[in-house]
Amino acid sequence: MSHDLENLLAPRPSERPDLWPWSARHDGTELSLGKVSASQLVESYGSPLYVLDEADLHGRANVWATVMAEEFWDGYGMGGGSAYYAAKALMSGRVIELVTSAGMGVDTASLGELTLALRAGADPDLVGLHGNNKSDEELRLAINAGTRGIARIVVDSIGEVERVTRIASELGRRARVMIRVTTGVHAGGHEFIATAHEDQKFGLSLASGTALEAARKIAAHESLEFMGLHAHIGSQIRDLEAFAESASRLLSLAKQLADEGVVCHELDLGGGYAITYTGADPQPLAPKEIARTLAGAIREACEKFDLKVPHVSVEPGRSVIGPTVVTLYRVGTVKDVPIEGGSRLYVSVDGGMSDNIRPALYDAKYTALLANRESDAPLRLARVVGKHCESGDIVVSDVALPGDIHEGDVLAVPATGAYGHSMSSNYNMLTRPGTLGVGMGEPHWLIYPEKLEDLFARDAALNAAELGEEK
Ligand SMILES: *Cc1c(COP(=O)(O)O)cnc(C)c1O
Repeated sequence: MSHDLENLLAPRPSERPDLWPWSARHDGTELSLGKVSASQLVESYGSPLYVLDEADLHGRANVWATVMAEEFWDGYGMGGGSAYYAAKALMSGRVIELVTSAGMGVDTASLGELTLALRAGADPDLVGLHGNNKSDEELRLAINAGTRGIARIVVDSIGEVERVTRIASELGRRARVMIRVTTGVHAGGHEFIATAHEDQKFGLSLASGTALEAARKIAAHESLEFMGLHAHIGSQIRDLEAFAESASRLLSLAKQLADEGVVCHELDLGGGYAITYTGADPQPLAPKEIARTLAGAIREACEKFDLKVPHVSVEPGRSVIGPTVVTLYRVGTVKDVPIEGGSRLYVSVDGGMSDNIRPALYDAKYTALLANRESDAPLRLARVVGKHCESGDIVVSDVALPGDIHEGDVLAVPATGAYGHSMSSNYNMLTRPGTLGVGMGEPHWLIYPEKLEDLFARDAALNAAELGEEK
């Protein structure tokens, strides 16, 4: 077996626990999740299937909430800390229940996300609203929720400041707002870049002074309460220096504001903390380490600027939900395709870019494990592909799989919790898979699998014809 192929083999839960949900086990023959074997899960609930470990999700959310509270505890002269779950990563009523009961707040970015968070029982005092183009309806719901409106509307433009002011005065309320600041710090993967100017749609710029202008406007309005500053610098970030640099830039703006008598009560450093997707990824940083490093950097910057340490929050999405979900697929067609210098097995599964668009969208890497049986067949270089009419419909671009993989086998793709279901589509009229909760009691649906009839229910012509027949 070549060394290269061995490196492309999916690590088992015992080898890389950071890649798999807490309850994932491999008994030498089969993978199990929440004490149920992968083949049994697919047999009982169909495929493709997103399997979410509820105890794992609750635990990760609790870790984030705890480390932020501990490391920014105000008894240390800090302003307190909190963690908001970025709900766009994956959202359902049960997901919101699990993360909020573990102590996290919820960040939303649309009418649908905000409505679902509130209906699922999230405390408005721990809910945020983002977006570069919020509608009046979204703002009205945010300002009207609970007794004081949601905890923070993160405004993204000068025009929005005016709109929030208008809607808040119409409703006779005081809206709590933060400013999304583009600090010029961008990160992803290992390195970060820090520039002065920004050429992107989000936020108000630090360099050009529009962030400062927005803060002044907010502070001057009766119906607005200025909470503080926010920056989100990217995703899948391993480099804490990038967050420290971004925090320091935000605090330099807070200092400018303090000199004008405007207090920044809160600083939000956004999300983007990296997780493990394949055996080639390094271990992710522990939330404790992240919070401690940020606390140190923020305290230092506050000392330098002679500022009181504000309340500090973060908004992790992927690092809360990503590792808690495994997608199970059934294998269909297997093809041996000659490529330069050898051959590659194309292993087709019963889903693809409709349940995981990230490989096509971001060239994201995943891995796949043969989950239903042990095989001692020699490893082959393989590519796991979907069933869509696109050659870019790739689930795992390079992986080692046993050469005898065949129709009916079950493949498990770990770390699909973030931006899997939430970015899923009905391309080729595929129904979207359900999300099954395991690890807390019996397996149960968190999100039902879609049926073909659900898709056809939206078809005006089909339904007009059916109504016609009934007459
Ligand atoms: C997407 C997003 C997040 C979460 O990012 P992750 O990479 O999932 O942690 C947090 N904050 C904002 C503003 C976002 O847009």
